[in-house]
Amino acid sequence: MSREPLIFELSAATKKGFALPKLDVPEKTEALQGLAVRAGIPGFPQVSEVEVVRHFTRLSQANFCIDTSFYPLGSCTMKYNPKINEKVAAIPDFLGSHPYAPPELVQGNLEVLKTLEECLVEITGMDAFTLQPSAGAQGELVGMMLIRACLKERGDPRKIVLIPDSAHGTNPSSAHICGYRVREVKSNDRGTIDLDALARDMTEEVAALMVTNPNTLGVFESDILRIGEIVHAKGGLVYMDGANMNALVGKFRPGDMGVDIIHLNLHKTFSTPHGGGGPGSGPVGVKKQLEPLLPIPVVEKGKAGYSLDFSRPRSIGRVRSFYGSFLVELKALAYILTLGAAGLKEVAEIAVLNSNYIRKSLEGVYHLKYASPTLHECVFSDKFQKERGILNIDIAKRLIDYGLHPPTMSFPLIVPGALMIEPTETESRRDLDQFIGAMKAIAREAVETPELLKSAPHVSPVRRLDETAAARNPVLRWEEPKG
Ligand SMILES: *Cc1c(COP(=O)(O)O)cnc(C)c1O
Repeated sequence: MSREPLIFELSAATKKGFALPKLDVPEKTEALQGLAVRAGIPGFPQVSEVEVVRHFTRLSQANFCIDTSFYPLGSCTMKYNPKINEKVAAIPDFLGSHPYAPPELVQGNLEVLKTLEECLVEITGMDAFTLQPSAGAQGELVGMMLIRACLKERGDPRKIVLIPDSAHGTNPSSAHICGYRVREVKSNDRGTIDLDALARDMTEEVAALMVTNPNTLGVFESDILRIGEIVHAKGGLVYMDGANMNALVGKFRPGDMGVDIIHLNLHKTFSTPHGGGGPGSGPVGVKKQLEPLLPIPVVEKGKAGYSLDFSRPRSIGRVRSFYGSFLVELKALAYILTLGAAGLKEVAEIAVLNSNYIRKSLEGVYHLKYASPTLHECVFSDKFQKERGILNIDIAKRLIDYGLHPPTMSFPLIVPGALMIEPTETESRRDLDQFIGAMKAIAREAVETPELLKSAPHVSPVRRLDETAAARNPVLRWEEPKG
């Protein structure tokens, strides 16, 4: 990619973005004096319209996105998002509806919310949902708040939350922010929760177990029923991090398997563009006993239509303005209704098939610490390449030269030098083979031309960065790479 100047560098006093006809009435600015009139904006770039369009279009092309290529970022479920969802979200009546509109005027919106709740109840086997949380991590926090409220009501507030070492990193932080002490539960050599360790750690001081299922190794916690029994026998609750539901939709209902509370990531499993800080949605589902505690307002369906119920004395209160990320919820509903029950089941089946295809194809080329069959993602490591001084970062950076997004790196922590790959169901056999081919080529390069990996990427606008310094002290002006 060639150098893209800053828009300020394109600026010249002679350039104009637009031209208005001469005023045909007397100019009057006195009335506005001291209010909104200023002579100009210091340093504001002056460029032509075409320069603005080309500048920003070129910048947009420097971005990697799912619409251009395979995006195997593990744990993030970077699936392709069907454009029909965007069409639905752009229907003017939805797009233009005001969050302060009274329920009588937004019956359709409330129907969308209620229908989505009902779909999620059916998909997960839980009894009720709140759609308010804005992301998975906020869903976790709300989940922890619900657990705390529930135990406090029972007169048995507890102090500790158990979290397996294979959990997602947001789990311990959510429990901690909610005021709990976190105790780690060890995994066994299959990469699942060690039942003996759990039985030892599960005391009457423990409020809940937070279990990511399938866990961050992509391995299904097949002892989930037994896990629930152990936790419940000591009066604790089971929280499931359901951000990995892409592996399970239509196949497994957590609510039937001893899970008391769960969050989903609509922006992962149910297809909304995410990453880059865009809006997300992390609904929380609960079993009956926790339902009265859900955040207000709750959408109610009555004889006279839909309404918002604010009078719920046991509620933990509001956790977000309005009803959550409405357009994300709308896109998720469009996605669920488009696929239907059979289609959702196929999502999980193909996601798991694709991940296992990659795992089998790269087995032996890259090290697999846990050999257990995986669901929707697989975790390799750089152990073989490390013997020659090549680390996971070198492999990840070299993938950029092959036109591919790097996988998630150095996570989960129980796999040193991890490369975590989640292909999702939307990738074709051809795209998977292309990725596998690139990964094999890079493994050969690690032996034959390791310097190519060490200095990668070579084709991107910027080369190897000091990532910490780049985040803390970004240099936005494009400079010729040194050397
Ligand atoms: C992505 C993810 C989260 C966090 O979700 P955000 O929406 O990014 O806050 C939590 N748990 C797991 C397993 C995840 O993959």
